[in-house]
Amino acid sequence: MKSYKVVGNGVPLEECNSEIPQPQGKQVLIKTIACGVCHTDIHIHDGYFDMGNGNQIPSRVTEPLTMGHEIYGEVAGVGEKVKDIEIGKKYVVYPWIGCGECEQCKNDMEHYCGPFTSKNLGVSVDGGYGEYVLVDDSKYLFDAGDTPEELAGSYACRGLTAYSALKKANPTKGDTLVIISAGGLGLLALKIAQAAYDVKTIVVDIDDEKLKVAKQEGATEIVNSTHENAASKIMELCGGAASKVLDFVGSESSINFGYNLFGINKGGLYILIGLLGGKFDLQLPLHTFTARTISGTYVGSMQEMKELMNLVRSGKIEPVAVETRPASQASVTLSDLKLGKIKGLVCLKH
Ligand SMILES: [Zn+2]
Ligand SMILES: [Zn+2]
Repeated sequence: MKSYKVVGNGVPLEECNSEIPQPQGKQVLIKTIACGVCHTDIHIHDGYFDMGNGNQIPSRVTEPLTMGHEIYGEVAGVGEKVKDIEIGKKYVVYPWIGCGECEQCKNDMEHYCGPFTSKNLGVSVDGGYGEYVLVDDSKYLFDAGDTPEELAGSYACRGLTAYSALKKANPTKGDTLVIISAGGLGLLALKIAQAAYDVKTIVVDIDDEKLKVAKQEGATEIVNSTHENAASKIMELCGGAASKVLDFVGSESSINFGYNLFGINKGGLYILIGLLGGKFDLQLPLHTFTARTISGTYVGSMQEMKELMNLVRSGKIEPVAVETRPASQASVTLSDLKLGKIKGLVCLKH
């Protein structure tokens, strides 16, 4: 089987040929059909996350590694203990697999399993940039209904992340949500917000082309944050000040812009999702007397995946367009994504 592996920080992925793995016990072998290229892959490939002030933390434990955690594929084989899965059936794979033994894993919070114990597909063990992926248990497989093949895998990371962030925002009817980023994650959040909640959405980005796509995809309002008076325009659209901001960028400039949208209002909720990097100075008395919350969120639980995939199968979430490229272009696709050249979502097809 072919796979495209990270063999060093930031250097081109290497095409490798290896034996197709054999599923054993409860394992299922998935033949990858399509795998989304997510922004996190850029950080894994680079080898670090930017912590601000020139500080970095490593973003991957193993090398070489086949990335790809937004996997959609068909069952190619099963271990001797698997009874409930048909060969040839197609599934989205939940990649946030834990050790199964720690307290978090036992409490249905496998996605909170530690970085040295988890077995996240495409992050800590080989994933969907390979033609075949070994999955530990059939419980991680989800039917995607009529979802287009090139989009389905993206529900396992970007879709799930957006869904979990929206649940934390817990919007009520008529709320206005500020969504920072009109990239792939922001667009999925927009679609899921429209399907699951009766809310208005203001999508914010620095790129007019991406904002145009967000408007076509149904954003109530779009605002370019680099334009003069952008913040006051957003606050006005929110009826004075924002109350719920979802930051899918997670950079110094995005949080400095987004946090100020609360004005002097109390009770603002800031959900931090993106991993672009940097740091943020918090003025403690201001944060305290305005009773604000900054909440980090990381992918989503198996329970949230079940809820999201029910929503996906119901057909309520309008599919977003996905650009498709052959898996052999994995390296150039990563650099295009890093350079901001990709509008919307992109996936690799095997
Ligand atoms: Zn991802
Ligand atoms: Zn664990």
